[in-house]
Amino acid sequence: MVETQVLIVGAGPVGLTLALDLGRRGVRCVLIERNDTSIQLPKMERCNARTMEIYRRLGVAEIIRDAGLPRSAPMDVFLATSMAEPPIVRLPCPSVAEAKAEIAAHNDGRPLEPYQLISQYTLEPLLRSIVETLSGVTVRFGCELLEFTQDSASVSAAIRTHNGESDTIRAKYLVGCDGGSSTVRKQLGIRLQGEGNIRKLRQALFYCPDLYERIPMGKGRHYHIAEGPLFPFIILQDSTRHWTLHAQASTDGEMAEIFSRSLRMPIDFKMLSVNEWTQHLLCAERYNEGRVFIAGDAAHLVIPTGGLGMNTGVGDAIDLSWKLAATLAGWGGPRLLASYECERRPIGLRNVKASRAAMSGRLSWRAAYHPDIRKNTPEGAAIRAEMARRFDVEQRKVTEILGIEAGYRYVDSTIVWPEPGDGPDPDNPHYVPTTWPGARLPHVWLRDGSPLHDRLGLGYTLLRLGGTRVETSNLERALQATGAPLDVLDLEDDIARDIYGFDSLLVRPDLHVAWRGNRVPQDAEAIARVIVGNTSGITPTQ
Ligand SMILES: Cc1cc2nc3c(=O)[nH]c(=O)nc-3n(C[C@H](O)[C@H](O)[C@H](O)COP(=O)(O)OP(=O)(O)OC[C@H]3O[C@@H](n4cnc5c(N)ncnc54)[C@H](O)[C@@H]3O)c2cc1C
Repeated sequence: MVETQVLIVGAGPVGLTLALDLGRRGVRCVLIERNDTSIQLPKMERCNARTMEIYRRLGVAEIIRDAGLPRSAPMDVFLATSMAEPPIVRLPCPSVAEAKAEIAAHNDGRPLEPYQLISQYTLEPLLRSIVETLSGVTVRFGCELLEFTQDSASVSAAIRTHNGESDTIRAKYLVGCDGGSSTVRKQLGIRLQGEGNIRKLRQALFYCPDLYERIPMGKGRHYHIAEGPLFPFIILQDSTRHWTLHAQASTDGEMAEIFSRSLRMPIDFKMLSVNEWTQHLLCAERYNEGRVFIAGDAAHLVIPTGGLGMNTGVGDAIDLSWKLAATLAGWGGPRLLASYECERRPIGLRNVKASRAAMSGRLSWRAAYHPDIRKNTPEGAAIRAEMARRFDVEQRKVTEILGIEAGYRYVDSTIVWPEPGDGPDPDNPHYVPTTWPGARLPHVWLRDGSPLHDRLGLGYTLLRLGGTRVETSNLERALQATGAPLDVLDLEDDIARDIYGFDSLLVRPDLHVAWRGNRVPQDAEAIARVIVGNTSGITPTQ
């Protein structure tokens, strides 16, 4: 019998991120993974801006960038009749280096980190190698969760290793990060709601080392091939020598033919793997029961268009992690863990919706296809122009959704201090910085050139801005009385006061705003009780 504080089932990107954050918070955990090795197949390849901010806070953003696509590589998206022909349309997307330079040149609340392309088969072993160095975390590959029981004090999980040995792990909490076919979710009897089994596609991985340097239309990340009805979709992987192809092919062998046809140039390549995958738009009806939680693909399944699969799961992990740590440390109130579902499930539903919008946009430009698209005639030109027009509008629902990625807000959270009114649109695809309680604190550069985010610690931070020295001692005392870790940060910078719009803000361990104001209300204890989950929430007053 193994005893631990948190048992994490599944060492995909979400389980690994959860283990990393719990580990750095000093929580003892065991991470089990039924496979013997990390994933070998390509799946996701783009960590979005918010995920990269999270990885920055975990101290691994630059390690991930070093292992990912070179910082100078363009991220452009193309539509073309083949890789050898001129593009029908090109959507320029900045390289990481260019995006970083833009971020450095502006102090307007935009996210601190840009995206990073890194193949899932690179990211997972990298995260695993980091997690394995954490003293409180035990990582066991080749170890499958069979079933579990829970009572009011703990969860007991029956596991089996690949050499057939059985064991029991007893933990205070269990988190199922065990993917779309989650054993944990099924055992809890939690149903998925939405549209399942929408369509099946094949994904093939190719080694084609010379292609990147030889594409006449230019270097980019996504190449959509205008060839109906298959519409091959070619994606650059992080090495720049590997490529994936997605298509609705009927056999594995057909994938190599489609790749060759899409290239339309004599070039050597080798098909390394093919796998079939199914598109779903689903979200779990509940995210937990008692001491057991689900996160990542176990809780929501999106179509990867828009890159909201793993990225949403990383958001789950980072919301749950500090709440588990707080509850185990004793300062998290009885409602803190319950707020995980109330905060993250609406985001799961919202991102399923955004993924549906991104996919329907893709179907819209594909509908403009006609086999005469290559013809050097007015009709051929008209087909290309119409497809380009639609692509230019619709593809932005995939590549220009920074508001969905970083602008999410925990609208009806029971652990943020509510304000009257609806607040800014939390589903705006364009990112608009806001400190409305529940939103992620926008990034601000300080006078010394450092980002404010880097000054925030593992606990709560009370920000006092613009030299206003707002009187916060009653709130500090109230929070300290709960046992919650608190730092107070006085920042003279006017720019932070301007962007944040208030003299004082209370920021949670996950960087979301818990409270803001120009003076602390008399009953500061009420704020403290709500944000650490000691009360059932309150109705906003003016
Ligand atoms: C083609 C494709 C492209 C994608 N592109 C993107 C993208 O660009 N951006 C993005 O954000 N997302 C993308 N995604 C989605 C992304 O791959 C998933 O959202 C992500 O893998 C989910 O991570 P996870 O850790 O929740 O689950 P998984 O990666 O599925 O990991 C679950 C792990 O749990 C293990 N496990 C399962 N059951 C047990 C058990 N009983 N005991 C022990 N271990 C168990 C599994 O072996 C697995 O390793 C893409 C997906 C596909 C298919």
